[in-house]
Amino acid sequence: MLNLILFGKPGSGKGTQASFLKNKYDLVHISTGDVFRKNIKNETDLGLKAKVYTEQGELVPDEITVSMLENEIKQNLPSNGFIFDGFPRTTFQANEMNKILSKYKLPLSATVALEVSDNLLKDRLLKRGKISGRADDQSEDKILTRLNEYRKKTEPLIQYYGKMNKFYSVSGIGEIDEISLRLVDLIEKIQK
Ligand code: AMP
Repeated sequence: MLNLILFGKPGSGKGTQASFLKNKYDLVHISTGDVFRKNIKNETDLGLKAKVYTEQGELVPDEITVSMLENEIKQNLPSNGFIFDGFPRTTFQANEMNKILSKYKLPLSATVALEVSDNLLKDRLLKRGKISGRADDQSEDKILTRLNEYRKKTEPLIQYYGKMNKFYSVSGIGEIDEISLRLVDLIEKIQK
């Protein structure tokens, strides 16, 4: 069973690579950002609660996000494994995730970060904003807020998973296929 956390700054290519890995290894792909966007579009209670935060580029409060994640996991069991894209993003979420994974007997295989420099990310996100229309990709201010949230709240997880011997990083720069190959190489090594 393969259970992966895909980790990286906004715009690092997590979503693209997670879809690739989902197909290759027949995993369930849970993107907390996608779940929030779907709920916001459908104007559900969860969507209404999350909207103000996501539109400003801030993290949605932990309690809301953690219970949503557990629901998504429950709905997709049994499964060959999961790829988590955009969760956890805080130490609180990581602690809760450990509990949830052990409750459902889903051993964590690895946390893999896609490394891309901030300058390249800003360019990628502004370009993506023109195509996707995502509210949080529209201005440099919102992008900076997201990068700051990442630095303050998410980056400490590198050490967190490092201490558990579960942290790996891969360069997220280059062609999409090239980056996918780097990920597959790493996963094959981990699985040996
Ligand atoms: P993403 O698509 O992963 O860039 O997420 C888009 C937005 O959804 C983020 O900027 C947050 O507002 C919210 N979000 C997604 N995942 C989380 C999370 N794990 N914790 C808190 N907020 C999240």
